[in-house]
Amino acid sequence: MATRTAAHTPAHHIRLSEPRLWREQAWVAGKWIDSRDAIAVDDPATGVTIGHVPALGAKAIDSAIDAASVALPAWAALTPDLRAEHLLAWYEGMLRHREDLALIMTLEEGKPLHEARGEIDYAASFVRWFAEEGRRAYGETIPSHLPGRHLSTVRRPIGVTAAITPWNFPSAMVTRKAAAALAAGCPMIVRPASETPFSALALAWLAEQAGIPGSIFQVITGDGRTVGGALMDDVRIRALSFTGSTEVGKALIRQSADTVKRLTLELGGNAPFIVFDDADLDFAVEGALAAKFQTSGEDCLAANRILVQRPLYEAFLERFAARTAQLRVGHGLETGTEIGPLIDSRAVDKAAQHVEDAQRHGARVLTGGKKLGGNFYSPTVVADVTPEMALFREETFSPVAAVLPFDDEAEAIRLANDTEYGLVAYCYTENLGRATRLGEALDYGMVAINCAKLTGPPIPFGGVKQSGQGREGSRHGLDEYSELKYICLGLPD
Ligand code: NAP
Repeated sequence: MATRTAAHTPAHHIRLSEPRLWREQAWVAGKWIDSRDAIAVDDPATGVTIGHVPALGAKAIDSAIDAASVALPAWAALTPDLRAEHLLAWYEGMLRHREDLALIMTLEEGKPLHEARGEIDYAASFVRWFAEEGRRAYGETIPSHLPGRHLSTVRRPIGVTAAITPWNFPSAMVTRKAAAALAAGCPMIVRPASETPFSALALAWLAEQAGIPGSIFQVITGDGRTVGGALMDDVRIRALSFTGSTEVGKALIRQSADTVKRLTLELGGNAPFIVFDDADLDFAVEGALAAKFQTSGEDCLAANRILVQRPLYEAFLERFAARTAQLRVGHGLETGTEIGPLIDSRAVDKAAQHVEDAQRHGARVLTGGKKLGGNFYSPTVVADVTPEMALFREETFSPVAAVLPFDDEAEAIRLANDTEYGLVAYCYTENLGRATRLGEALDYGMVAINCAKLTGPPIPFGGVKQSGQGREGSRHGLDEYSELKYICLGLPD
């Protein structure tokens, strides 16, 4: 914990068109609050502290849950149209302040500014989507098996909800969860990652401006275990959504048992990116670059293992390594930056260890493989990776691309599915039958064939196996925050 110092005011680091978007307080029960202890937030590109946020304790978290519980009935009773109006005002605020929000994100997360702008659009799109989708939370009538009865279902809000969001998508993971919860009629308390709280706090200020009641969307900051523990132990939190590592996801599953909470979990990935020898080489290389290096590789959708059919293997490596070597590394605010810093020094060490481990086991480093100082690691291509290497088994979450050859379709499927993860798989082929077979055989929640970009509000985002449970976005995203109630109506004469 750090002590707040007067020097850390936004004016020293950041010039926003709307300075009030920069909040160094938490948003609890309609009030901006402080605490004695504070958490320092650093720019990962420079290591300079850009601000502090409160390290809230159990009392403040309890106040947030109290306020949300009191506010729940009135919010749940609003018509979906009225909830949609609030959400659409929030959406418009996000678009109006897109540039400031992107700047805040790049400063705290490190991603290139053009990617941060893209994330603000992406984050806002979930708010608009769920504003509309909330109007379509239909129940059903059931043909009755009992004489003289009318059978139906309605969807009702699950209750007070919470979210623990990651640092790699500081805005979109907040709105993908909160917009769905609010549209379904539920208050949500968000605990953003300590590395990137300012994006979430700016969203809280915009929610306030949009007239969303202060107890319906709250942002609490603090140590993960303290806040997570308090949320998980409280029986009034009926559902919690988490995006982050599988390890913490498992801890949350264990913690949820005593209060039987519903959990939506978006956990780690270990995405295969399969290139068959009938694919167009340039198209596949560009797809692999996009799928690997977006968000500097710190993305649960990142291509973690690139499998290339042997006849195309060396040609693919040559072009892919040449294109990777051209990627511009720098501060996210510098024009032309394509790869920003990693989030912290642990992430850099993990990347370096993965590369060393692969080399020790006989892999070739074709480009990169260097710590560049600070939190920067060079875009790297490692060839001849095998299933024994950590790069194959673990999510590297860095700009290190692991490439390995395969001989036939059966081997590609076996290698791709040889992991406990199951979030997304990519496949490049011009053979329609093969594409259809792969779509079925890959044991993943999402499969992208001949494309690298696949996300957006209308799609059900989520994984199988140890990549998580539940779905976010799409019409299914609302279901995570509502319960189906069955009503049996007797019809006496
Ligand atoms: P993490 O260990 O999953 O931590 C995520 C968040 O959970 C942090 O804000 C952390 O707070 C909090 N937390 C930790 N223990 C908790 C607990 N017992 N209860 C509630 N919250 C708790 O992720 P990380 O350390 O940031 O990254 C580690 C790896 O996770 C990455 O290398 C990557 O593989 C994976 N990851 C995946 C995604 C994704 O999009 N699926 C996103 C981020 C990371 P503190 O910071 O206070 O500990």
